[in-house]
Amino acid sequence: MNNGKICVSVCAETAEEFIKNIKRAEEFADVIELRFDCLESNQIDILFAKLRQLGRMNKIPFIVTFRAKEQGGKRKLTKEQRDNFWNSGNEIGWADLEEDVVEDSFSRLWDKKICSYHNFNGVPENLEKIYKRLRATKVDIIKIAVQADDIKSSIAVWKLLEQSKRENKDITDSLAVWKLSEHARQRSIEIIPITMGEAGKWTRILGLAHGAFMTYAALEAGKETASGQFSARDLIETYRVKELDEQTEIYGIVGNPVTHSLSPFMHNAAYKIHNLNAVYIPFEVKNLDEFIKKFIRKETREIELNFKGFSVTIPHKQSIIKHLDFIDETAQAIGAVNTVKIVDGKLYGYNTDAQGFIEPLKNSYGDLREAKVAILGAGGAARACVYALKKEGAKVVIFARSIKKAKSLASEFQIQLKEFSKTENQKPKTDFNNFDVFVNTTPLGMKGKLENETPMLAGQIKNVKLVYDLVYNPFETQFLKEAKSGGVPAIGGLAMLAAQGAAQFKLWTGEDAPIKEMSAAALRKLS
Ligand code: NAP
Repeated sequence: MNNGKICVSVCAETAEEFIKNIKRAEEFADVIELRFDCLESNQIDILFAKLRQLGRMNKIPFIVTFRAKEQGGKRKLTKEQRDNFWNSGNEIGWADLEEDVVEDSFSRLWDKKICSYHNFNGVPENLEKIYKRLRATKVDIIKIAVQADDIKSSIAVWKLLEQSKRENKDITDSLAVWKLSEHARQRSIEIIPITMGEAGKWTRILGLAHGAFMTYAALEAGKETASGQFSARDLIETYRVKELDEQTEIYGIVGNPVTHSLSPFMHNAAYKIHNLNAVYIPFEVKNLDEFIKKFIRKETREIELNFKGFSVTIPHKQSIIKHLDFIDETAQAIGAVNTVKIVDGKLYGYNTDAQGFIEPLKNSYGDLREAKVAILGAGGAARACVYALKKEGAKVVIFARSIKKAKSLASEFQIQLKEFSKTENQKPKTDFNNFDVFVNTTPLGMKGKLENETPMLAGQIKNVKLVYDLVYNPFETQFLKEAKSGGVPAIGGLAMLAAQGAAQFKLWTGEDAPIKEMSAAALRKLS
């Protein structure tokens, strides 16, 4: 548990809409940010009037902001317009002021003052100077928000949080000599560090646990007021940010992209059920070497986070291997690692994709010895499938659109390789009716451009005993619909996703995973 606050940011063009959003924000917010710069100019006075009507009965403090576009606001505003706004005598809570207006005397009447700095182009080299400048304004809270395009830059603001904690502690420690020391007359200044962008999302989750005064959240998904913002519901219910502390064990998914990963929902649901002081975070990592060096390895890391392990996804499943101290037999044979466990600073690599794939298949099909299995695709997922099927004694044939690319997989596992092609009207040429099982490991049918595509039509699989589509988003793919219409039993990709996640949970915590709840958490996010 920590003392941090959730600030829900509210933005609307009319006063009426604003009030509606404020009411909805009250469900989650400790503080509500009122983005006055979102309003049409004729609505500003109307909103202040409505807020006065709401009165101080409202127990949740408001933060008022009124920023020009170049400062991160919604509208073009002159300095004069901003001065007039802050001079209008409408003090209704806390004021979030930029450096150019913070010193003006008119802003003294606000309950608290925040001085904020925004940079949407990246992390400025003189960040520490800016921090000192803001601290020198003697406001109650300083806010520094910078854009991080990679995980390395997201460290810069985090270091300020640590610095601020040290400085505030120095001040508190020196209270005993209050009368003697001029230095002690300073007071603690809270900090809100924000790293915008996908690569900075981890700071929004862990900030409160490490002393940040507040973290910002969107009213709901789709209503974000800054890039990388989570919805308030996700921050509170999925990531449980107010329950975390410096001892919280940190897990996460390391890859690029990770924005749409369902793993945070599955794993955090499992931690909640098992009442573990642990959190699972999306880490968008473009440069894996930098991540391992600056976040993980004890000898070189720049910040101290209590990492216990992480999932690895595209494009790092192979490149992680060189960073490991140990790799287990299965991961070695597959040639890819999707799970890292950290024990006493050492990195142990595993692959749970094979187990995750085969468990649901065996549950539905039974004994796979001598079963004739066709696998479509020859990428990373196919490797884990082939490994697991061979171990079960199945007879596997790989179908790939590029024989050249698939050759190494086929020869490594000594299996047959055939070309997968389509007719001019996109109908798959091959008939798979002499196979027992057909597995799709290509992204055909996946949400986005390929959503309406299917690897196979109902007629081409009508004698197949079971089909298995690794694609899990959407839950019911076009291919699963084909299987259904042909009356062929089918397994969707969510089953594998949950099973490989459950195996990770077991590796990390030593406890049996609540797989049903993990699957349900992922499904809720899909629908
Ligand atoms: P990958 O390494 O990129 O491999 C994709 C394979 O599909 C390659 O062989 C590729 O052929 C082939 N392919 C791509 N587009 C195709 C098309 N239009 N027609 C025919 N073949 C095509 O990706 P991956 O990691 O194996 O993942 C593949 C799919 O499995 C993704 O949709 C992923 O979400 C899903 N998956 C699900 C789970 C789960 O837990 N359910 C786990 C892992 C993966 P080329 O080499 O010629 O491009």
